[in-house]
This record gives sequence, structure tokens and C-alpha cells, in this order.
Amino acid sequence: MAKIIDGKAYAEGLRGRIGKAVAALMSEHGLTPGLAVVLVGEDPASKVYVANKAKQTVEVGMNSWEHKLPADTPEKDLLALVEKLNNDPAVHGILVQLPLPGHIDSTKVLTAISPAKDVDGFHVVNVGKLSTGQDSLVPCTPVGSVMLAKDVLGKLDGLEAVVIGRSNIVGKPVAQLLLAENCTVTIAHSKTKDLPAVVRRADLVIAAVGRPEMVKGDWLKPGATVIDVGINRIERDGKGKLVGDCDYASCEKVAGAITPVPGGVGPMTIACLLYNTVKAACAAKGIPQPEM
Ligand code: NDP
Repeated sequence: MAKIIDGKAYAEGLRGRIGKAVAALMSEHGLTPGLAVVLVGEDPASKVYVANKAKQTVEVGMNSWEHKLPADTPEKDLLALVEKLNNDPAVHGILVQLPLPGHIDSTKVLTAISPAKDVDGFHVVNVGKLSTGQDSLVPCTPVGSVMLAKDVLGKLDGLEAVVIGRSNIVGKPVAQLLLAENCTVTIAHSKTKDLPAVVRRADLVIAAVGRPEMVKGDWLKPGATVIDVGINRIERDGKGKLVGDCDYASCEKVAGAITPVPGGVGPMTIACLLYNTVKAACAAKGIPQPEM
């Protein structure tokens, strides 16, 4: 049976270390990192995410601002708010919650965020820095996924890694991070031929597909480490349930270690957002980034 990778516990530990780093920045440099989150509209899932982000930001001792705008906010008003936050020295991180209402061009808004405050790591400048091996703000879920893989495997040098999914939010950045960790990386997607055979090569599988329980145990090399990024809501036995992109029941019998859903990668995302905010605050002040 596979070792269960406890992302909830790891994220809790990480938030504890971030809290200590924030306290030290305050006492030694008079710096309080601050995160501004912008929510446009009433999407219920987005409201929950934003409330959790604000709560956890305050819990680690950072400043938190929530900007809630109505769903019919004109694009130019949102761009004006982003500009205001770009110019506010107390704000070190800006996060515009996605998805945005249809009348707003998300790419335009994300590009308007200063790359130095882009704690989601979606700005093309940060994407370019990541892919050219420069220090940058990296998307939170990929950072959290690689932290969990390193926690269980130690060094990743030379491992065969297969990333299933090539989105800009997860697949591509996680592949870049694994390349930087000296893995031999394959990125699979919906046009990949014989996906089970590709996955069977992997010492490390990162599944970011959005298809409930797609990866089966007999696709895995025995002992492989499985990081399941997927969050899918399904109905089973008349009840709503969250499942990953991997079929946990069959995968845990073959894998060496596996993240559960929920309780695996999910809790890492907000912890890494706080991590990125501390990183952005230190860079803005020219202070070396603390160990976290
Ligand atoms: P996207 O829908 O943007 O991308 C899915 C990727 O999977 C695409 O590259 C697609 O290929 C590929 N794909 C789809 N079907 C198949 C298939 N049958 N075989 C192989 N590849 C396939 O999703 P995201 O990257 O945004 O998210 C992926 C999952 O991660 C979702 O379940 C999402 O909920 C979850 N997620 C979890 C987060 C967390 O906090 N834990 C944060 C973000 C996402 P193609 O490009 O060819 O279409």
C-alpha cells in the first residue's frame, strides 16, 4: 500500500514557517507583507476561495485587503483598481480571482498586474522568467505539488516525470519546475497516444487533467509517486463527493506514495500564495528571502 502524502499537514507546517518569517520581517525590518484579493461577481466557489485566502493571510500575520466588485463592473474600472494596487507600496501581492465575468478580458487584466506583485505567477513576464530559469513568482498549485514531491522523494534528479495536462495554470509550470529539478519530463495531453504506456515510464506522475479518476493503478510503474492535482465533484451513491484525476483505490495499491483528494495538493495552493506574497514583499524591499 502506498504512503499517503498528507498535504494538509505539510501546508499547516508551511503556514507555521511563513508566520515565523512574517514576524521576523516585522521585528527586523518593519515590513508587513500585504496581499490584496479582488473578486468580481458572486460566483459561490470563488467567494469561498477568497474568504479562505483572506482568513489564512491574516492568520500568518500579514495584511489582507478584499476588494469585492459587482458582476457588471466595467473592465476599465477593474483595470483602474489594479493600477491603484500596483502603485500602493503596502500591497506586495495582487490576486484577481478567476474566472472573471464574460465581458472582461482576463488576459488584459492579468497583464495589467505588476509582475513584481503577480503572486499567482500568471503574468507573461513571470512565465518567461520561469521558462528561462530566472527567479520569478511561480503559480501556486505547481509550487505546492513540487514541494510535496520533494518532501517524499528528496532530490528529484534524473527521475522520469510524466505530467498529464498542459494548461498554463498547472501542467506547463509544473513541468518547468520539474525540469529545473533535473527530472526528465514528458508532458502528456488529450492527443497523447497510448497514455497508459507513457504514464508507466514515470517515477513521478503529476495528474492535472480535470477528468475524475482517469489514471488507473495498472497505468503505474510499481512504487511510483503520484501527485494528484485534480479536484472533481461527482455524484456517488446519491451523494456529492470530491475525487481526483487518479483512481485512488487502484492507484494506492501500486504507487509508492500518493496524494489523497481532498487533503493532498488542494491545501498547498493557499499556503503557496502566502509564500509568494512574502517572496514579493522581500524582493520589493531588497531583503533576502527568509527560509520557509
Ligand atoms: P485544464 O482543463 O485547463 O487542462 C486540462 C489538461 O488535461 C489539458 O491540457 C488537456 O489536454 C488535458 N486532458 C484532458 N483530457 C485528457 C485526456 N483524456 N488524456 C490526457 N490529457 C487530457 O485544467 P487545469 O490544468 O486548470 O486543471 C486540472 C485539474 O486540476 C482540474 O481537476 C482542476 O480542478 C484541478 N486544479 C486544482 C487546483 C488545486 O488547488 N489543487 C488548482 C488548479 C486546478 P489538451 O490541452 O490537449 O486539451
